[in-house]
Amino acid sequence: MRLDDEAESQNVEDRRGGGGGFGLPIGGKSIGIGTVIIALAASYFFGIDPSLIFQGASVIQGQQQPAPQSQAQPHRPPAADQLSVFTRKVLGNTERTWEHIFETDLNRRYAPPTLVMFTGATPTACGTGQSAMGPFYCPADQKVYIDLSFYNELRQRFGAGGDFAQAYVIAHEVGHHVQNLLGVSNKVDAARRRMGEAQANQLSVRMELQADCLAGVWAATAGKLNQQLLEPGDIEQGLKAAAAIGDDRLQKQSQGYVVPEAFTHGTSEQRVRWLRQGLTTGDIRKCDTFAQRQL
Ligand SMILES: [Zn+2]
Repeated sequence: MRLDDEAESQNVEDRRGGGGGFGLPIGGKSIGIGTVIIALAASYFFGIDPSLIFQGASVIQGQQQPAPQSQAQPHRPPAADQLSVFTRKVLGNTERTWEHIFETDLNRRYAPPTLVMFTGATPTACGTGQSAMGPFYCPADQKVYIDLSFYNELRQRFGAGGDFAQAYVIAHEVGHHVQNLLGVSNKVDAARRRMGEAQANQLSVRMELQADCLAGVWAATAGKLNQQLLEPGDIEQGLKAAAAIGDDRLQKQSQGYVVPEAFTHGTSEQRVRWLRQGLTTGDIRKCDTFAQRQL
């Protein structure tokens, strides 16, 4: 992907710790060792009081951070690292793209979700979010939660690396937000409460496959709006990621056998098919997984 021209989203909440385990306890909070070094180097070369940098490390990045806000958010991590910039840019693109789709196809306004970056565990309106759950969307607070280390897992454990594979993960969660805005989530929740577990799981599968399809619609439309965005091999990367995180493959990896009734996301083949459906049609109306007898 080429994200050079993409503006970063402002709808990001960064709840990551200040240094991923290498923090120094200063004033009761943890600050990354990198910041300490940068702070000391900066104060040495520029004569800045290091404590100012701890409070607003964004100074170094050249970002505007109002002083009262940086004091109100003492846990704000200091460095704008590569993965978080990537995530902000992809999210920013989903905002512009879905705004366009909502306006042209649905004649309504798109209200973007907030993306929360966290490490380990974090409170959500849907209960405590854990890194081990993988990225997820909570409809109750309209937030996407992601521990950025999932990108590593995607590459190492699932063999699906690359920037577009990562973008697909974000786009899938944003797809759940679109479902929420369109009222699909509510209807599915209500229906699931009246069902047995196997049937309820089948509805979940349709919900998940629709989110995959919507991720495809995003990529197709984003590629039209910014012709530089997608590079050769990107689409294949996304399809590979979709195949890697199918329920059948995940179950086989974790328990060695497949239980189709327990599927909640769809098989690898289904996930690839619906992502491709969105990619090739670029049309949200072609994402009605609930109307299909055969998924
Ligand atoms: Zn999902």
